[in-house]
Amino acid sequence: MTSMSPKTLLFLQAHPDDECILTGATMAKAKSLGMRTIVVYGTRGDAGETNQDLGEESLGDRRVREALAACAELGADRIEWLPYDDSGMAGTDTTSNPAAFSNADPATVAAQVADLLEDETLDAIIGYDANGTYGHPDHVQVHLVAHQMATLELAPWVLDATYNREHLAGLPDADGSIDTKFAAAEEDLTHFVGGEKWFLQKAKAIGHHLSQVPDDWDPDNPDLDGFRARFGTEWFIAKPVAADSSFEDLGDLFAPKQDWAG
Ligand SMILES: [Zn+2]
Repeated sequence: MTSMSPKTLLFLQAHPDDECILTGATMAKAKSLGMRTIVVYGTRGDAGETNQDLGEESLGDRRVREALAACAELGADRIEWLPYDDSGMAGTDTTSNPAAFSNADPATVAAQVADLLEDETLDAIIGYDANGTYGHPDHVQVHLVAHQMATLELAPWVLDATYNREHLAGLPDADGSIDTKFAAAEEDLTHFVGGEKWFLQKAKAIGHHLSQVPDDWDPDNPDLDGFRARFGTEWFIAKPVAADSSFEDLGDLFAPKQDWAG
């Protein structure tokens, strides 16, 4: 028997634009399957860089506006912001800011998210891999918070969004070397979301992040080949939270790794 309430997915994100790069296709596909998608951002991305002239606007304000437009493109049902500052890249001054997201206790943040979403019934929490995808302290924090939420049994599944390390190392413009501090090994991946339709929606959504995309990114006619090779497939490591966690209802969204055509 199928429940009448839609499956609800929490996408925990570190910064504006992460929702597109790491999970944009997944959010778009989930929406098409009638699932409810919630995005919670740890920060406003205020320690990032931009090539744009922002005028009077702060980078954080600009990035929030961009994220709201991108989330609308991807059909997000609910968007929330946690009250933390962007930690900036590892090794920069902003990482020592006590208000930075990465300096918060993961258990405290998990409880904050749980409070914020106490009226929701979550079917999966999507965070990032243990390396924080590419090592950004706020991305590592997303991993810790998502798994802390899992220990509170706030959803039957927690999935780490990540990259396929071997695939990226094998691209024509890569040198083939494997960095074990980057993302995840192919053997550890469990599921993926692929498909040109969802990729195109993701590419359209990222066009709203004009403060972050390369200078030559044309939102109306983007050159997608390199972007598709890197980000066309979204990878996940799915972990059950309880012994009886069933993947049945999520299986229409996330395909098993063995189905990947490469
Ligand atoms: Zn980020």
